[in-house]
Amino acid sequence: MALKDALKYPLEKRIALIFDYDLTMTEEFQQVPYLADNFRAIQRMYDGMEKTNPKTGEKITLSIKQPADYFRLSDLWGEPHNGVGYVHQMLRDARKGILKNFTEDGLRAAGAKVQISPGMPEFLKKLRREWKDKCHISYFIVSVGLEPLIEGSTIAQSGQIDEIYATKLYCLDEFWEGKKNSGMYDSVSEIVTPFSKTGHAIEIAKGGRVNLNKVMKHLSYFFDYRNMFVLGDGTSDISQFAYARRKGSRIIGVYKYDSVEAFDNIRTNKLIQDRCNAIKPRNYREGSDLWNYMNQKIKVMLERACTFDPEFIDMYRKKKIRNLKIKDIVSRHLKKCSYCNGLLDPSISPPDDSE
Ligand SMILES: [Zn+2]
Repeated sequence: MALKDALKYPLEKRIALIFDYDLTMTEEFQQVPYLADNFRAIQRMYDGMEKTNPKTGEKITLSIKQPADYFRLSDLWGEPHNGVGYVHQMLRDARKGILKNFTEDGLRAAGAKVQISPGMPEFLKKLRREWKDKCHISYFIVSVGLEPLIEGSTIAQSGQIDEIYATKLYCLDEFWEGKKNSGMYDSVSEIVTPFSKTGHAIEIAKGGRVNLNKVMKHLSYFFDYRNMFVLGDGTSDISQFAYARRKGSRIIGVYKYDSVEAFDNIRTNKLIQDRCNAIKPRNYREGSDLWNYMNQKIKVMLERACTFDPEFIDMYRKKKIRNLKIKDIVSRHLKKCSYCNGLLDPSISPPDDSE
């Protein structure tokens, strides 16, 4: 999809969906199929290895029983889930020969095998069809994962995604020494971390990195934050959720659609709760709860007449307005504006057992 096609529509008729990738569009971590292909070598190297935890000094025996246990290796020496440690662990293990095919083609092929969420990627096409000629819908993926893994997936291959922001790998040996034979990644050229996801949301709204630090008038924005949805499972999304919500975007937390346990986990996680407008089962099929919610909110966005600044609504919600006069203005506005009221109440749906 060509992003610039959005410009054929006025700002208020451009809608953007920003997706986290792992456990938002997929049912497993994107690295799992690749790690599964290399699992025997990983296990041979690390399972049962005795190490001293550098952070606590305690002696531990590494236990690697399934592909996702690989992340425990970088958790041991790095900051867990920061999107950086595991990339360096993989680069090292590729150099040591433990991980094979750590190349663009190798990772794309493994990325194609990831289990994607029900209704994906058809959802992307169907939603566009549903709103054809009424507005323009753009899709973005922002992930702390690896770009070639995402590019290889059926979601990216569907041709529906406008842009992918993820960690980019690079083969420096090829660049500096002209080594063409392997193409094996040996370095990182750009990294996405949980916190930097927020920067990408700003970049998307402003229409690219060239505008990232510019002060722009509302009408020069590529997307109005109020016409943006941010979807994520919450693991690396909190900061982006918080920022986008303050700006008036719709934040949707998703969980495994048929799992009571996953629902309980997300429902009791206050960090996620406070930042979401909705918590929905991860089922993108036509007619699902998520499908209906999205369609209803797109309609609300397109019919919006209110010009009240969403940041005041968000501050009011969080009881952060110090000035009593401003507080009173917001409170009086909320009494008569259904659009702004709709930004306050969370829409929480239990697991969907329609299967
Ligand atoms: Zn309003």
